[in-house]
Amino acid sequence: MVRGMREHAWITESAHTTLEGRLLYVRCAQCGTRRMDLQGHPEQPPSAASRSVASLGAACAPASKPCALNH
Ligand SMILES: [Zn+2]
Repeated sequence: MVRGMREHAWITESAHTTLEGRLLYVRCAQCGTRRMDLQGHPEQPPSAASRSVASLGAACAPASKPCALNH
């Protein structure tokens, strides 16, 4: 983990159970970024879920600060 990198503070706004698993609508409490996350069925190995979480790993850039990357 790189020092100084923030992780998003994901909070779940809503969740829906689908045929493919649990669809979570999450929002970062810090920067307001929204995304969907699909969790596998509970009986699947935890590695599936952690892989999904890893895809969330972009650095958090709270809206109160200017974005140094793309703006
Ligand atoms: Zn964030």
